[in-house]
Amino acid sequence: MSASTGSGKGGFFSKQSIFILLAGTMLGYVVLPVLLVETGSLAGSVQMKMKSGTNGGYTNDDPRHLGGDDIMSRLIENKKLLSTQSLPTDRSPQVMETAILSDHRRKKILVTGGAGFVGSHLVDKLMMEGHEVTVVDNFFTGQKKNVAHWMHHPNFSLVVHDVTEPLMAEVNQIYHLACPASPPHYQFNPVKTIKTSTMGTLNMLGLAKRVKARILLTSTSEIYGDPQVHPQAEGYWGNVNPIGPRSCYDEGKRVAETMMYSYKDQSNVEVRVARIFNTFGPRMHPNDGRVVSNFIIQALQEKPLTVYGEGDQTRSFQYVSDLVDGLHALMNGGYERPINLGNPDEFTIKEFAVFIKKLTKSKSDIRFLAATKDDPSKRKPDISLAKEKLKWEPRVTVEEGLSKTIDYFQGILDEAGEIIPTGPGASKPQN
Ligand code: NAD
Ligand code: UDP
Ligand code: UDP
Repeated sequence: MSASTGSGKGGFFSKQSIFILLAGTMLGYVVLPVLLVETGSLAGSVQMKMKSGTNGGYTNDDPRHLGGDDIMSRLIENKKLLSTQSLPTDRSPQVMETAILSDHRRKKILVTGGAGFVGSHLVDKLMMEGHEVTVVDNFFTGQKKNVAHWMHHPNFSLVVHDVTEPLMAEVNQIYHLACPASPPHYQFNPVKTIKTSTMGTLNMLGLAKRVKARILLTSTSEIYGDPQVHPQAEGYWGNVNPIGPRSCYDEGKRVAETMMYSYKDQSNVEVRVARIFNTFGPRMHPNDGRVVSNFIIQALQEKPLTVYGEGDQTRSFQYVSDLVDGLHALMNGGYERPINLGNPDEFTIKEFAVFIKKLTKSKSDIRFLAATKDDPSKRKPDISLAKEKLKWEPRVTVEEGLSKTIDYFQGILDEAGEIIPTGPGASKPQN
């Protein structure tokens, strides 16, 4: 038996193989392309029919059966809707609508530290007013989820940047909040805290000077240190240990205030300085170690509430929406000197622990731990100046604010399972 090599008897190709070759060529080059074109136009005609109303049983919402023009108009519609509101997220479930401002009324506003607790609430207000808001944050204590509900919005930008580095931007107003604020956070890396308050504020002032923007610094009641005057009015110069565990924050903010007025006097920069007293509310970091977050988290988990020292030291607590209103009034008003923003409702820390237990209906014990060094013994704002100059005063009672904050932390706990609050030692936040 001879092996077949493809050559037929008596020639190179047999008639049979030539026929198969021709048939294959016809099939590949003529019949298949014609069939494809025909089926395509068939599909096209089905689409045209669907467009003109006969949708073959599918709902008009099924995007698989929309034509190109429909998809485009649907996209444009959705984009328009999204540019007028926030998108609900776990952290910010309520939809916030944004106003539409004419070009000359819409400001470009920079919020440093805008992904933090206070900053993110301020961003909400500015976005709802219809301004273009740029958040600059290095995420040391801030979290992307605090502003995630604005990420899609054309008026919103997020820049991951450390304010200790120079920043170029073209803006009309700067709210300068960037700085860790709770004792465990600012004591975690004291040198960095000083750099943030000094180099960071210098850079933001240089920016404000160059673009002629008005700049507001979020200073703090800590600049009064362990006060010998009670309540504290703006004229009091304070009692601060320059080399204690709190100094990196207290002295950093004092220098920042000095720089604000030096730039005003020397370079005519328009400055505003808010001295903020203890503020609380949703979006506080669960590991910030502050008394409000610690006590609520401990109480909700039926764990002991940790009071540092005897608990006779006092604090006065303000709800975050009041602070945001105060910052906004200060920025947009004519008053240029430092001004206290706080709620004068004063508690001893011991009383506060009992109050939190009552509001959370908790059976937790109250445990007394060692006092922390340089802990101010009392603190309460005198807000006469804010009332007079800004027509501002807190509107939310501590109880109302706490019940919203308790609901918020309950949600965080449901999600996390368990939270171990940050103790008196410095600690890096867990995102
Ligand atoms: P926070 O820690 O939640 O927010 C601070 C934000 O600044 C965070 O998002 C953090 O990531 C960011 N940040 C820190 N260092 C930065 C850097 N070098 N560059 C860029 N971003 C940086 O604190 P908060 O409670 O929202 O405080 C905001 C401001 O208000 C701070 O300036 C704080 O000193 C001031 N303040 C707050 C209180 C209060 O009770 N919450 C009281 C007094 C003053
Ligand atoms: N700066 C900035 N952005 C600007 C302008 C200035 O970050 O748009 C920084 C600048 O790098 C400098 C600081 O702000 O470190 C202070 O600027 P200023 O012009 O007051 O001082 P100088 O640059 O003359 O030292
Ligand atoms: N504090 C406390 N237990 C805690 C956290 C804080 O007793 O778990 C005390 C703290 O010693 C201080 C007060 O509560 O006297 C307020 O502390 P916080 O850190 O909230 O703010 P600040 O000291 O900056 O005012």
